[in-house]
Amino acid sequence: MLISSLCFIPFFHFHLIFMLFSLLLYFLPAYLARNRSDFTAILVLNLLAGWTFIGWIVALVWALSSGRQRQVAVPVPPAGPAQLASGTTFFCSACGKSFDAGARFCSSCGAALPATPR
Ligand SMILES: [Zn+2]
Repeated sequence: MLISSLCFIPFFHFHLIFMLFSLLLYFLPAYLARNRSDFTAILVLNLLAGWTFIGWIVALVWALSSGRQRQVAVPVPPAGPAQLASGTTFFCSACGKSFDAGARFCSSCGAALPATPR
């Protein structure tokens, strides 16, 4: 009884690892497409047609081909501080006119402006 159960453990472990490996391999296209805009479409194709060899190959090729296009197409967003400075308006304490966030002197009355808060 004890010997037979001990003999079963290595087989069980191998079986489990093999199962996990097959599962990981099966969802490889979806894993490769995880950061992409069409991830859901690739995942659905992977799930529904992945068990057919052709469907799995299509999902894998799709995941690999669309990834490069998206990385090129998506622009890097501009730095935050510049966007904040242009969007924020400050007003002169002497004349009340608006001025740019980075300005040291008022463009309307020439009064010295305090260091603008960020
Ligand atoms: Zn002013």
